[in-house]
Amino acid sequence: MGLQTSGQIGNKLRLAVALTVGILVAEAVGGYLANSLALLSDAGHVFTDILALVLSWVGVLQAQRPGTAAMTFGFHRVGVLIALINAASLALIAGFIVVEAYHRLQQPEAVDTRLMLGVALAGLAVNMVIILLLRRDQQHSINIHSAFLHVLGDALASIGVIVGGLIIMATNWFWADPLISLLVAGIIAVGSWGIIQEAVGVFLEATPPHVNLHELRQAMESDSDIVNVHDLHVWSISPDLHMLSCHVLSHDLTVAQTEEARARLDKMLAERFAIAHTTMQFECAECIANAPSCPLAFGNPDQTKAS
Ligand SMILES: [Zn+2]
Ligand SMILES: [Zn+2]
Repeated sequence: MGLQTSGQIGNKLRLAVALTVGILVAEAVGGYLANSLALLSDAGHVFTDILALVLSWVGVLQAQRPGTAAMTFGFHRVGVLIALINAASLALIAGFIVVEAYHRLQQPEAVDTRLMLGVALAGLAVNMVIILLLRRDQQHSINIHSAFLHVLGDALASIGVIVGGLIIMATNWFWADPLISLLVAGIIAVGSWGIIQEAVGVFLEATPPHVNLHELRQAMESDSDIVNVHDLHVWSISPDLHMLSCHVLSHDLTVAQTEEARARLDKMLAERFAIAHTTMQFECAECIANAPSCPLAFGNPDQTKAS
């Protein structure tokens, strides 16, 4: 993607954020005036959306900062930390909505349905504009694609508020308002749970979800120069930057042959497992005799002891 194209996409994202801020203000003011919890909770949801967009932009900028002597891994996890804090606050907002909805289900409050419907319709219209705006770019960029999917979900939430308003208008059944806000709380909770899972996995140095460790080990050991792979670790610096370190027991190779084997393994790991950075310690049967600090463990990698 050229610089100009990504600049244009940046402009479209900025426009999307500005339009979304408009929805937020309309829903917060309209929700308060109409006494509609459904509208207010959607305002809470939209607020976290804006926060998420701005913070992920900050995360992208941080990830581009080069590493320093004090921060040799760079700043990739700043974005992950921000996402985790953001998702935790989202879960908190969902909790507040559930508590407030519980009170309103016990004691339903009258809602100004005309105002509620008007604001929700305006919100839906803006969602549609953003969908049209991003529709053509979403095939080319993962970031745009996830933003696009999210706006689709937002449109569904707006439709939920509209349906709730229509039900109240037709039947005066005011329970519809807290029930719809519970639905919005559910949307918020599901979204934040996914982010929390991903971020915690990164911080706990979990094997990335797309990597099957047994399969990876077999792929490395299928190389004819390699006897076995042990002390194998695969982890993520951020959800899209994966690292590997391991010991490789090889046949008695020359240094040049070792370098060729390492390059083959590197290429295979990058192509099949999207691992961008590897550290491999090559060993042969001779050198192991002189390395008592490296306890070899064959078989199940989960039983491999750290050396
Ligand atoms: Zn949203
Ligand atoms: Zn070893």
